[in-house]
Amino acid sequence: MNKRDYYEVLGVSKTASKEEIKKAYRKLSKQFHPDINKEANASEKFQEVKEAYEVLSDEQKRAQYDQFGHQDPNQGFGGGFGGAEGFGFDDIFSTFFGGGTRRRDPNAPRKGDDLQYSMTIDFMDAVFGKETEVEIPKEENCDTCDGSGAKPGTKKKTCPYCEGTGQLNVTQDTPFGRMVNRRACQHCEGTGQIIEEKCPTCKGAGKVRKVKKIKVSIPAGVDDGQQLRVSGQGGPGYNGGPSGDLYVVFRVKPHKEFEREGDDIYLELGLTYPQAALGDEIEVPTVHGKVKLKIPAGTQSGARFRLKGKGVKNVHGYGIGDQHVVIRVKTPTKLSEKQRQLLREFAEISGDIPEEQESSLFDKIKRTIKGD
Ligand SMILES: [Zn+2]
Ligand SMILES: [Zn+2]
Repeated sequence: MNKRDYYEVLGVSKTASKEEIKKAYRKLSKQFHPDINKEANASEKFQEVKEAYEVLSDEQKRAQYDQFGHQDPNQGFGGGFGGAEGFGFDDIFSTFFGGGTRRRDPNAPRKGDDLQYSMTIDFMDAVFGKETEVEIPKEENCDTCDGSGAKPGTKKKTCPYCEGTGQLNVTQDTPFGRMVNRRACQHCEGTGQIIEEKCPTCKGAGKVRKVKKIKVSIPAGVDDGQQLRVSGQGGPGYNGGPSGDLYVVFRVKPHKEFEREGDDIYLELGLTYPQAALGDEIEVPTVHGKVKLKIPAGTQSGARFRLKGKGVKNVHGYGIGDQHVVIRVKTPTKLSEKQRQLLREFAEISGDIPEEQESSLFDKIKRTIKGD
Protein backbone atom coordinates (compact mmCIF):
# COMPACT_ATOMS: atom_id res chain seq x y z
CA MET A 1 0.00 0.00 0.00
CA ASN A 2 1.34 3.39 -0.94
CA LYS A 3 1.29 5.71 2.01
CA ARG A 4 0.73 9.37 1.35
CA ASP A 5 3.28 11.84 2.50
CA TYR A 6 2.39 13.08 6.00
CA TYR A 7 2.91 16.73 5.02
CA GLU A 8 0.63 16.21 2.07
CA VAL A 9 -2.00 14.57 4.30
CA LEU A 10 -2.05 17.60 6.58
CA GLY A 11 -1.68 20.03 3.66
CA VAL A 12 1.31 21.80 5.19
CA SER A 13 4.82 22.57 3.93
CA LYS A 14 7.92 20.68 5.07
CA THR A 15 8.99 23.73 7.00
CA ALA A 16 5.66 24.11 8.76
CA SER A 17 5.84 25.21 12.39
CA LYS A 18 4.34 23.25 15.26
CA GLU A 19 1.48 25.70 15.36
CA GLU A 20 0.71 25.32 11.67
CA ILE A 21 0.67 21.54 12.00
CA LYS A 22 -1.63 21.68 15.00
CA LYS A 23 -3.99 24.05 13.19
CA ALA A 24 -4.11 21.83 10.10
CA TYR A 25 -4.74 18.78 12.22
CA ARG A 26 -7.58 20.36 14.14
CA LYS A 27 -9.26 21.44 10.96
CA LEU A 28 -8.88 18.09 9.19
CA SER A 29 -9.74 15.91 12.14
CA LYS A 30 -12.99 17.79 12.52
CA GLN A 31 -13.64 17.49 8.80
CA PHE A 32 -13.12 13.73 8.71
CA HIS A 33 -14.29 12.77 12.15
CA PRO A 34 -16.53 9.70 11.70
CA ASP A 35 -19.12 11.18 14.06
CA ILE A 36 -19.51 14.20 11.83
CA ASN A 37 -18.55 13.00 8.36
CA LYS A 38 -20.71 10.24 6.98
CA GLU A 39 -18.79 9.75 3.73
CA ALA A 40 -17.62 6.22 3.01
CA ASN A 41 -13.89 6.82 3.41
CA ALA A 42 -14.09 9.36 6.21
CA SER A 43 -12.91 6.97 8.86
CA GLU A 44 -9.86 6.03 6.78
CA LYS A 45 -9.03 9.66 6.13
CA PHE A 46 -9.43 10.46 9.78
CA GLN A 47 -6.94 7.71 10.70
CA GLU A 48 -4.53 8.98 8.09
CA VAL A 49 -4.67 12.50 9.49
CA LYS A 50 -4.26 11.24 13.01
CA GLU A 51 -1.20 9.18 12.10
CA ALA A 52 0.38 12.09 10.21
CA TYR A 53 -0.21 14.38 13.15
CA GLU A 54 1.23 11.89 15.64
CA VAL A 55 4.47 11.84 13.73
CA LEU A 56 4.80 15.48 12.71
CA SER A 57 3.83 16.85 16.11
CA ASP A 58 6.62 14.89 17.80
CA GLU A 59 10.01 16.46 17.18
CA GLN A 60 11.93 13.23 17.35
CA LYS A 61 9.55 11.29 15.15
CA ARG A 62 9.34 14.15 12.70
CA ALA A 63 13.13 14.28 12.43
CA GLN A 64 13.22 10.56 11.72
CA TYR A 65 10.45 10.89 9.17
CA ASP A 66 12.29 13.71 7.41
CA GLN A 67 15.36 11.55 7.27
CA PHE A 68 13.90 8.18 6.32
CA GLY A 69 10.31 8.82 5.21
CA HIS A 70 7.92 5.89 5.32
CA GLN A 71 10.84 3.55 4.61
CA ASP A 72 12.16 4.17 8.05
CA PRO A 73 14.34 1.22 8.99
CA ASN A 74 12.88 1.24 12.47
CA GLN A 75 9.34 0.65 11.34
CA GLY A 76 9.70 -3.06 11.65
CA PHE A 77 10.14 -2.70 15.36
CA GLY A 78 7.32 -1.92 17.73
CA GLY A 79 4.83 -1.25 14.97
CA GLY A 80 6.48 1.85 13.51
CA PHE A 81 5.44 5.37 14.36
CA GLY A 82 1.92 4.66 15.45
CA GLY A 83 2.97 1.75 17.61
CA ALA A 84 4.33 1.18 21.03
CA GLU A 85 4.44 3.90 23.59
CA GLY A 86 7.80 5.32 24.57
CA PHE A 87 9.32 4.22 21.28
CA GLY A 88 12.92 5.33 21.02
CA PHE A 89 16.39 4.37 20.00
CA ASP A 90 17.12 2.57 23.21
CA ASP A 91 14.25 0.16 22.57
CA ILE A 92 15.49 -0.49 19.09
CA PHE A 93 18.92 -1.33 20.40
CA SER A 94 17.47 -3.71 22.95
CA THR A 95 15.64 -5.43 20.12
CA PHE A 96 18.84 -5.73 18.11
CA PHE A 97 20.97 -6.92 20.94
CA GLY A 98 19.32 -9.81 22.67
CA GLY A 99 15.63 -9.14 22.20
CA GLY A 100 15.30 -6.91 25.23
CA THR A 101 16.25 -9.62 27.68
CA ARG A 102 18.09 -8.53 30.77
CA ARG A 103 21.83 -8.30 30.64
CA ARG A 104 23.67 -11.11 32.35
CA ASP A 105 24.78 -10.55 35.86
CA PRO A 106 28.44 -9.47 35.91
CA ASN A 107 28.94 -11.37 39.15
CA ALA A 108 27.43 -14.68 38.05
CA PRO A 109 29.88 -17.61 38.00
CA ARG A 110 31.31 -18.24 34.54
CA LYS A 111 33.70 -20.82 33.11
CA GLY A 112 37.28 -19.62 32.68
CA ASP A 113 38.95 -18.99 29.34
CA ASP A 114 40.22 -21.87 27.23
CA LEU A 115 43.93 -21.75 26.54
CA GLN A 116 45.94 -23.12 23.66
CA TYR A 117 49.48 -24.35 23.95
CA SER A 118 51.69 -25.51 21.11
CA MET A 119 53.96 -28.38 22.10
CA THR A 120 56.84 -29.63 19.98
CA ILE A 121 57.40 -33.36 20.40
CA ASP A 122 59.79 -35.97 19.04
CA PHE A 123 58.75 -38.19 16.16
CA MET A 124 58.97 -41.35 18.25
CA ASP A 125 56.99 -39.83 21.15
CA ALA A 126 54.20 -39.09 18.68
CA VAL A 127 54.28 -42.70 17.46
CA PHE A 128 54.31 -44.38 20.86
CA GLY A 129 52.92 -41.71 23.18
CA LYS A 130 54.53 -40.45 26.38
CA GLU A 131 53.70 -39.10 29.79
CA THR A 132 55.24 -35.70 30.08
CA GLU A 133 54.91 -32.32 31.74
CA VAL A 134 54.63 -28.86 30.34
CA GLU A 135 55.28 -25.58 32.02
CA ILE A 136 52.68 -23.07 31.07
CA PRO A 137 52.60 -19.47 32.25
CA LYS A 138 48.97 -18.78 33.04
CA GLU A 139 46.68 -16.85 35.29
CA GLU A 140 45.60 -18.47 38.51
CA ASN A 141 43.32 -17.26 41.25
CA CYS A 142 45.29 -15.32 43.84
CA ASP A 143 45.81 -17.43 46.97
CA THR A 144 45.92 -14.43 49.33
CA CYS A 145 42.42 -13.18 48.52
CA ASP A 146 41.01 -16.37 47.03
CA GLY A 147 40.44 -14.59 43.75
CA SER A 148 38.25 -11.80 45.11
CA GLY A 149 40.86 -9.04 44.77
CA ALA A 150 39.90 -7.63 48.17
CA LYS A 151 42.34 -7.53 51.06
CA PRO A 152 41.66 -10.49 53.38
CA GLY A 153 39.18 -9.43 56.07
CA THR A 154 37.67 -6.70 53.89
CA LYS A 155 34.73 -6.94 51.52
CA LYS A 156 33.72 -5.61 48.17
CA LYS A 157 30.88 -3.12 48.08
CA THR A 158 28.25 -2.49 45.46
CA CYS A 159 29.36 0.15 42.98
CA PRO A 160 27.40 3.33 43.73
CA TYR A 161 27.67 4.63 40.15
CA CYS A 162 25.96 1.74 38.39
CA GLU A 163 24.22 0.30 41.47
CA GLY A 164 25.80 -3.06 40.90
CA THR A 165 24.66 -3.55 37.31
CA GLY A 166 28.13 -2.92 35.89
CA GLN A 167 26.68 -0.71 33.16
CA LEU A 168 25.84 2.93 32.78
CA ASN A 169 23.34 4.59 30.46
CA VAL A 170 24.87 7.40 28.45
CA THR A 171 22.37 9.84 26.96
CA GLN A 172 23.38 11.69 23.85
CA ASP A 173 21.48 14.27 21.81
CA THR A 174 21.83 13.67 18.09
CA PRO A 175 20.09 15.11 15.01
CA PHE A 176 17.76 12.10 15.16
CA GLY A 177 16.80 12.73 18.72
CA ARG A 178 17.99 11.48 22.03
CA MET A 179 20.02 8.31 22.01
CA VAL A 180 20.65 6.16 25.02
CA ASN A 181 23.65 3.87 24.95
CA ARG A 182 24.77 1.44 27.57
CA ARG A 183 28.40 1.00 28.30
CA ALA A 184 30.49 -0.74 30.92
CA CYS A 185 30.76 1.27 34.10
CA GLN A 186 34.27 2.67 34.30
CA HIS A 187 34.19 2.99 38.10
CA CYS A 188 33.93 -0.76 38.70
CA GLU A 189 35.12 -1.92 35.26
CA GLY A 190 31.77 -3.55 34.60
CA THR A 191 31.86 -5.83 37.63
CA GLY A 192 29.25 -3.88 39.61
CA GLN A 193 31.44 -4.04 42.69
CA ILE A 194 34.16 -1.85 44.06
CA ILE A 195 37.12 -3.07 46.07
CA GLU A 196 37.82 -0.64 48.88
CA GLU A 197 41.03 -2.21 50.11
CA LYS A 198 42.92 -4.07 47.45
CA CYS A 199 44.68 -7.36 48.09
CA PRO A 200 48.40 -6.65 48.43
CA THR A 201 49.43 -9.73 46.43
CA CYS A 202 47.41 -9.26 43.25
CA LYS A 203 46.73 -5.51 43.58
CA GLY A 204 43.00 -6.12 43.32
CA ALA A 205 43.08 -8.19 40.14
CA GLY A 206 42.13 -11.40 41.95
CA LYS A 207 44.48 -13.27 39.65
CA VAL A 208 48.20 -13.76 39.50
CA ARG A 209 50.40 -15.05 36.70
CA LYS A 210 52.21 -18.24 37.53
CA VAL A 211 54.20 -20.81 35.65
CA LYS A 212 52.30 -24.01 36.18
CA LYS A 213 53.46 -27.56 35.57
CA ILE A 214 50.76 -29.58 33.87
CA LYS A 215 50.87 -33.31 33.14
CA VAL A 216 50.23 -34.11 29.50
CA SER A 217 49.79 -37.63 28.14
CA ILE A 218 50.87 -37.55 24.51
CA PRO A 219 48.48 -40.05 22.90
CA ALA A 220 50.20 -42.83 20.91
CA GLY A 221 49.75 -42.21 17.19
CA VAL A 222 49.12 -38.47 17.47
CA ASP A 223 50.02 -36.59 14.31
CA ASP A 224 51.35 -33.15 13.58
CA GLY A 225 48.70 -30.47 14.16
CA GLN A 226 46.36 -32.63 16.23
CA GLN A 227 45.26 -31.34 19.59
CA LEU A 228 44.46 -32.72 22.99
CA ARG A 229 42.03 -31.22 25.48
CA VAL A 230 43.27 -31.18 29.04
CA SER A 231 40.12 -30.58 31.02
CA GLY A 232 40.13 -27.87 33.69
CA GLN A 233 43.67 -26.62 33.01
CA GLY A 234 42.70 -23.42 31.23
CA GLY A 235 42.19 -20.02 32.77
CA PRO A 236 40.59 -19.71 36.22
CA GLY A 237 36.82 -19.42 36.42
CA TYR A 238 35.09 -16.10 37.02
CA ASN A 239 33.24 -15.53 40.27
CA GLY A 240 33.83 -19.07 41.45
CA GLY A 241 32.94 -20.72 38.09
CA PRO A 242 34.87 -23.75 36.79
CA SER A 243 38.27 -23.38 35.11
CA GLY A 244 38.54 -23.36 31.33
CA ASP A 245 40.26 -26.10 29.35
CA LEU A 246 43.74 -26.32 27.94
CA TYR A 247 44.18 -27.36 24.33
CA VAL A 248 47.61 -28.77 23.57
CA VAL A 249 48.45 -28.64 19.86
CA PHE A 250 51.21 -31.09 18.92
CA ARG A 251 53.99 -30.17 16.55
CA VAL A 252 55.89 -33.31 15.57
CA LYS A 253 59.58 -32.95 14.73
CA PRO A 254 60.69 -34.66 11.52
CA HIS A 255 62.74 -37.86 11.78
CA LYS A 256 66.07 -38.26 10.02
CA GLU A 257 65.05 -41.56 8.37
CA PHE A 258 61.31 -42.06 8.61
CA GLU A 259 58.67 -40.02 6.96
CA ARG A 260 55.10 -40.23 8.12
CA GLU A 261 51.89 -39.99 6.17
CA GLY A 262 48.86 -40.63 8.33
CA ASP A 263 49.47 -43.97 10.00
CA ASP A 264 51.92 -45.16 7.32
CA ILE A 265 55.65 -44.68 7.42
CA TYR A 266 57.95 -44.33 4.44
CA LEU A 267 61.60 -45.22 4.42
CA GLU A 268 64.02 -44.75 1.56
CA LEU A 269 66.48 -47.64 1.37
CA GLY A 270 69.71 -47.52 -0.63
CA LEU A 271 70.89 -50.75 -2.32
CA THR A 272 74.15 -51.39 -4.07
CA TYR A 273 74.02 -52.40 -7.69
CA PRO A 274 74.97 -56.05 -6.95
CA GLN A 275 72.36 -56.22 -4.15
CA ALA A 276 69.65 -55.01 -6.51
CA ALA A 277 70.80 -57.21 -9.35
CA LEU A 278 71.51 -60.41 -7.43
CA GLY A 279 68.99 -60.06 -4.63
CA ASP A 280 69.72 -60.08 -0.90
CA GLU A 281 68.25 -60.43 2.52
CA ILE A 282 68.74 -57.29 4.56
CA GLU A 283 67.72 -55.72 7.85
CA VAL A 284 65.47 -52.71 7.57
CA PRO A 285 64.87 -50.23 10.39
CA THR A 286 61.25 -49.66 11.41
CA VAL A 287 59.86 -47.67 14.33
CA HIS A 288 59.30 -51.05 16.00
CA GLY A 289 62.91 -52.19 15.53
CA LYS A 290 64.80 -53.97 12.77
CA VAL A 291 62.91 -56.27 10.39
CA LYS A 292 64.30 -58.71 7.80
CA LEU A 293 63.40 -57.94 4.20
CA LYS A 294 64.05 -60.17 1.19
CA ILE A 295 65.18 -58.23 -1.85
CA PRO A 296 64.45 -60.26 -4.98
CA ALA A 297 67.03 -60.41 -7.76
CA GLY A 298 66.53 -57.73 -10.40
CA THR A 299 65.00 -55.13 -8.08
CA GLN A 300 64.70 -51.76 -9.82
CA SER A 301 65.29 -48.34 -8.34
CA GLY A 302 61.95 -46.95 -7.15
CA ALA A 303 60.53 -50.39 -6.27
CA ARG A 304 58.43 -50.49 -3.11
CA PHE A 305 58.04 -53.13 -0.46
CA ARG A 306 55.34 -53.08 2.17
CA LEU A 307 55.99 -54.16 5.74
CA LYS A 308 52.49 -54.80 6.99
CA GLY A 309 51.66 -53.54 10.47
CA LYS A 310 55.01 -51.82 10.91
CA GLY A 311 53.54 -48.31 10.80
CA VAL A 312 51.86 -46.18 13.46
CA LYS A 313 49.05 -47.35 15.72
CA ASN A 314 46.00 -45.26 14.91
CA VAL A 315 45.40 -42.58 17.54
CA HIS A 316 41.69 -43.37 17.64
CA GLY A 317 42.30 -47.10 17.87
CA TYR A 318 41.55 -47.97 14.23
CA GLY A 319 44.26 -50.54 13.61
CA ILE A 320 47.86 -49.94 12.66
CA GLY A 321 49.59 -48.54 9.57
CA ASP A 322 52.28 -50.10 7.37
CA GLN A 323 55.83 -49.22 6.55
CA HIS A 324 56.68 -48.70 2.90
CA VAL A 325 60.27 -49.26 1.85
CA VAL A 326 61.24 -47.34 -1.27
CA ILE A 327 64.36 -48.68 -3.03
CA ARG A 328 67.09 -46.45 -4.41
CA VAL A 329 69.84 -48.23 -6.28
CA LYS A 330 73.06 -46.42 -5.59
CA THR A 331 75.48 -45.91 -8.43
CA PRO A 332 79.03 -46.19 -7.09
CA THR A 333 81.06 -43.01 -7.32
CA LYS A 334 84.46 -43.92 -5.93
CA LEU A 335 85.78 -47.03 -7.63
CA SER A 336 89.06 -48.80 -7.06
CA GLU A 337 91.08 -49.87 -10.09
CA LYS A 338 89.98 -53.47 -9.61
CA GLN A 339 86.30 -52.54 -9.39
CA ARG A 340 86.61 -50.47 -12.53
CA GLN A 341 88.26 -53.38 -14.32
CA LEU A 342 85.52 -55.79 -13.29
CA LEU A 343 82.78 -53.39 -14.36
CA ARG A 344 84.42 -52.99 -17.75
CA GLU A 345 84.46 -56.75 -18.10
CA PHE A 346 80.83 -56.88 -17.02
CA ALA A 347 79.91 -54.32 -19.63
CA GLU A 348 81.78 -56.20 -22.35
CA ILE A 349 79.94 -59.41 -21.58
CA SER A 350 76.57 -57.63 -21.39
CA GLY A 351 77.04 -55.60 -24.56
CA ASP A 352 76.34 -51.87 -24.94
CA ILE A 353 72.59 -52.12 -24.27
CA PRO A 354 72.36 -55.06 -21.94
CA GLU A 355 68.83 -54.82 -20.56
CA GLU A 356 65.70 -55.51 -22.54
CA GLN A 357 63.86 -52.69 -20.84
CA GLU A 358 66.54 -50.19 -21.65
CA SER A 359 66.56 -51.26 -25.27
CA SER A 360 62.83 -50.84 -25.56
CA LEU A 361 63.08 -47.42 -23.90
CA PHE A 362 65.84 -46.54 -26.33
CA ASP A 363 63.62 -47.60 -29.23
CA LYS A 364 60.77 -45.53 -27.88
CA ILE A 365 62.95 -42.43 -27.76
CA LYS A 366 64.15 -43.08 -31.31
CA ARG A 367 60.57 -43.45 -32.50
CA THR A 368 59.58 -40.22 -30.81
CA ILE A 369 62.41 -38.35 -32.50
CA LYS A 370 61.55 -39.80 -35.89
CA GLY A 371 57.92 -38.97 -35.32
CA ASP A 372 56.24 -42.33 -36.00
ZN1 LIG B 1 44.78 -11.25 45.74
ZN1 LIG C 1 29.98 0.48 38.50
